[in-house]
Amino acid sequence: MATYRVRAMDAEWLWENVRCALACPVHTEAGRYVSLIAQGRFAEALEVAREPNPLVHVCGRICAHPCETHCRRGQIDAPVAIRALKRAAAEMGCRGPLVSGPGTMSGNRDGGGSVTGGRLPAGGHAGGAGEGLATGRQPAHLRPGPGKKVAVVGAGPAGLACAHDLALLGYRVTIFEAQPRPGGMLRLGIPAYRLPRAALDEDIEAILALGVRLETGKALGRDFSISDLRANYGAVFLAVGATASRELQVPGADLDGVLKGVDFLLNVNLSYRVEVGERVIVIGGGNVAVDVARSALRLPQPEAGEWRETLLTTAADAARAALRLGARRVEMVCLESRESMPAFAEEVEAAAAEGITIRPSLGPHAILGEKGRVKALVTRRVASLFDAAGRFNPQFIPGSEETWPADTVILAIGQTLDTSMFSPADGPALTPRQTIQVDPETMATNLPGVFTGGDAAFGPRIAIAAIADGRLAARSIDAYLRGVARTTAMGAAGRITPPRRLEDDYHRLPRQPVPSLQLDRRVGIAEVEVGYSREQAMREARRCLQCYLNPWLDPEKCLMCGGCVDVCPYNCLRLVPLDRVVLDEKLRQEVAWKLGVPPDWPDGYALRPQAGQAWAVMLKDEDKCIRCGLCVRRCPAGAMRMVEFSFWGSS
Ligand SMILES: Cc1cc2nc3c(=O)[nH]c(=O)nc-3n(C[C@H](O)[C@H](O)[C@H](O)COP(=O)(O)OP(=O)(O)OC[C@H]3O[C@@H](n4cnc5c(N)ncnc54)[C@H](O)[C@@H]3O)c2cc1C
Repeated sequence: MATYRVRAMDAEWLWENVRCALACPVHTEAGRYVSLIAQGRFAEALEVAREPNPLVHVCGRICAHPCETHCRRGQIDAPVAIRALKRAAAEMGCRGPLVSGPGTMSGNRDGGGSVTGGRLPAGGHAGGAGEGLATGRQPAHLRPGPGKKVAVVGAGPAGLACAHDLALLGYRVTIFEAQPRPGGMLRLGIPAYRLPRAALDEDIEAILALGVRLETGKALGRDFSISDLRANYGAVFLAVGATASRELQVPGADLDGVLKGVDFLLNVNLSYRVEVGERVIVIGGGNVAVDVARSALRLPQPEAGEWRETLLTTAADAARAALRLGARRVEMVCLESRESMPAFAEEVEAAAAEGITIRPSLGPHAILGEKGRVKALVTRRVASLFDAAGRFNPQFIPGSEETWPADTVILAIGQTLDTSMFSPADGPALTPRQTIQVDPETMATNLPGVFTGGDAAFGPRIAIAAIADGRLAARSIDAYLRGVARTTAMGAAGRITPPRRLEDDYHRLPRQPVPSLQLDRRVGIAEVEVGYSREQAMREARRCLQCYLNPWLDPEKCLMCGGCVDVCPYNCLRLVPLDRVVLDEKLRQEVAWKLGVPPDWPDGYALRPQAGQAWAVMLKDEDKCIRCGLCVRRCPAGAMRMVEFSFWGSS
């Protein structure tokens, strides 16, 4: 006789069952907004998507989407295309145009600038249908908070998310940003063909519209110190990222023509002068390396031996011509095998499709030069990457040297915190990995009132993780300034909803490919992913299994008639005698208390029903349930209800 191992359907189970929400660092309830898209309710979908994430346009384009990796639909065929659907919600749910508004961000290429959320009426209240702000990105209200001042250093996703939440909590926030434009690596690193600047500006403007002050061209360590900030602000959030390229320790690394990946992208993305030759080799296998390689392909050719200012906005024609003439050759050399490259698979595929040659399992051995300029890269074949203890320790095959001609070598082998901004007198403690030492529970550094997060604290990661850090830091700063302990809790709340069912063909619908530009049009800053049409988005959204909807049994009302079990078209409900189940500890305690038996009864102990009682448990196979609600309709006692769960809290 089969024995069933079961656990209680409690808040913890629900969280784990709704895997997309649990996997997302800000716990976005993807299933809920995807379901709204399926019904064509894009504006409401945008509200759900934006609730935990102020950078919704950004994440709809470039999020590393851990939600998709964990999507339960992936066990059937392919995960729901959640990121592309977020983009659809952001674009189609947003009633305003997706353009940068006038006057809200200032700052010029070379100098600094400052801006306060200029669109807000005096007094800073953002309620109502604020001028130019689209529905769906409008906060319901600003808390009439303590009005204390907080300094945020760095306008990347961590700093922006922190500033957003602090502004909503009623703080007066100033962001100090070293570069002329805000956005951090979203603007300085990620190329415009993956993240159009209008989308980035849309999110940033909505944050500034909350009254957040932005001071560009102001660098910590050059224009002010941490002591200055601590003297003038109630709290400080250090979100300075990992902006320094790692060095490559091989002969020839200091030759002319050897560029650092992040510096290269920064120059390209800020439209500064960039020089690369005919034959470019990018060293590295991560996302930065892929972005570097794809950006190098898009640079315009020099004309008549003279480099033009590389303005990507005007580069499209020249880059297209260069590509069509086949004049430029871009290769990527990386230690990893093609399958284990750390870059996102879709980006590697896109790079390969655009004509970039990927040379996996090769390590740089030396860079050869002539008259002080790069001439070639010498590589060795990788024998193994990790030692017996699993540590990264690449070993090479002796005698496997190969020489690859090149006139430009771009190093994209990782980034690290630029520690030169800190002085020993007032800087935060650093870890041996050269990150800022942080308490991950609170984002506090060793300096009272100074918090940190994002890549500066954890090393290079993904944007949504930086956003989560910024939000967590905002709650900690609020608690610190109010002199109270920050509460952490995760929970689920249910709302009874009429039964609704998935479409009949939901399990046959294939994942809708996200339309992309055809290859010969992938030039300059032209966005490669085109995005779903309204109809495509609704079709893709119908594939969602809606894990957040659950038939829920009230055991006090249940008659144990088995009607729900009989009617279930997928046999996912089962009524099983209690002595055939192995309960998890929590459930065991609960059952023991209800039945008045000792909680340590042995598994398989025959719990005999007493007169008038049936001791059984209702089991549900979550993977089979299609939320059709027939069980709810069939139940004669009203014990089975369809419940829509929503989640709250922070991890
Ligand atoms: C090329 C590239 C591609 C990437 N692609 C993706 C992707 O597709 N998806 C994804 O999820 N993630 C991607 N990432 C990672 C993601 O961009 C980062 O994890 C994220 O931006 C980190 O956010 P942050 O706020 O911690 O730091 P950053 O974004 O680095 O922002 C730090 C900010 O601090 C400023 N700053 C630095 N020093 C000072 C100073 N002394 N004073 C004042 N300001 C200072 C910087 O100018 C910068 O604006 C990519 C990163 C790179 C480099």
